[in-house]
Amino acid sequence: MRFTDESHQITLDSDFETGSAGPVRIVDGVYEIAPQPEPVSPWFTAALEEHFGGAGVPREYACHVRVTSSATTDQRIRLRFFFSETNGNRYMDPPYWILRDERWWPMGAGATRFVSEEHVELDIDVPARGAVHVANKPYVSGGDVASEMESLAQVGPFEIEQIGVTEKDRPLLSLSSTRADGSYADDTILIGATMQPAEPAARPVLAVAHALNDGSALSKRLLERYRFVLIPLPNPDGTAEGRSCTNGCGQVPMFSFGRLLAGEDDVPKETAALWRHAEALRPAAYIEFHTHYQVSRSHKLNPMGADWFDVERHADLERVNEALLSTNLDWRVTPIERTTPLCEAGKFTNLADRFGTLAYCYQIYCISEEATAWHAATVSMTLARALAGDEWAAETPSPVIVPG
Ligand SMILES: [Zn+2]
Repeated sequence: MRFTDESHQITLDSDFETGSAGPVRIVDGVYEIAPQPEPVSPWFTAALEEHFGGAGVPREYACHVRVTSSATTDQRIRLRFFFSETNGNRYMDPPYWILRDERWWPMGAGATRFVSEEHVELDIDVPARGAVHVANKPYVSGGDVASEMESLAQVGPFEIEQIGVTEKDRPLLSLSSTRADGSYADDTILIGATMQPAEPAARPVLAVAHALNDGSALSKRLLERYRFVLIPLPNPDGTAEGRSCTNGCGQVPMFSFGRLLAGEDDVPKETAALWRHAEALRPAAYIEFHTHYQVSRSHKLNPMGADWFDVERHADLERVNEALLSTNLDWRVTPIERTTPLCEAGKFTNLADRFGTLAYCYQIYCISEEATAWHAATVSMTLARALAGDEWAAETPSPVIVPG
């Protein structure tokens, strides 16, 4: 999308990575922006119709435009982002975000007028001959994620692996930890971002690697005990195209694992690559972060119900559940059971069912990128420590202390 208002020398566009917008028009001096249409596969529409009466799993909840001015004076403009019926309740709640000096900032309440389920109006200061980005989440491009992964591999015990390619030939990358001697630990903890690009979780997932590289007793011991495999960008096409839940080909990779395992058609390459990777790792635990950058609701956890697991696994499940639940004072928690609609379509059920993986879906509700990243790291370290067990924790050696 590209739209120019000659009289104010203002251009709006979404022709860049993570850009997301439909047609623009000016009404009474306000730039009205429609959502980017996000078609989905017919089987998915039918499944939503059957299980949720057409609701559930929102789409078209990404918006991200660049506003460029060629005027010689500063201007204040008003944007109005329209919501669609598929946005879903509460997905569009403020704050909205502005990118200045290459950093995202949440916009203040004074510049935001939010009309639930209809639209939001945002007042933006556009500097003379300058540009600002405005979005509903702090989106990060695939290039920036890859750069951060390369930096982590240079400064910490991490390796980058290409685990496949997307439908549009972008690489799918993982970051894998090694022990001090360069080997892989036998047991794996897999940590992934949601395949919904409108819940950008790449930085929070990579925050786990930063936490593991902090030189603490816990990190050093966990790196010897587990191989941590991080997948910060599991749907890079969707991220690049500013999609909400699809990969840009109308496919919904997060709900295609069941189709892959049932040998059905219309399975995205992303889903197949991530499943083959998980199959090779057979992770002891998997946690997937969904990020909202809002505080309108409590954090949410979906653990697997106990009857997905053999009895020998139940003590591990209870210990990890208890440790995770101790991280927050208020929660929304719903276990994934065999009766949960569409549960066979996603990754959690299939990992638990086939490999005994303790799989968790975790929805983070805090505003800043930093708080969200801190929370993801805290939760992941808590999970790993609990999975390692009390005996392991008790074996912590005394610190080596020298004068200094
Ligand atoms: Zn989500």
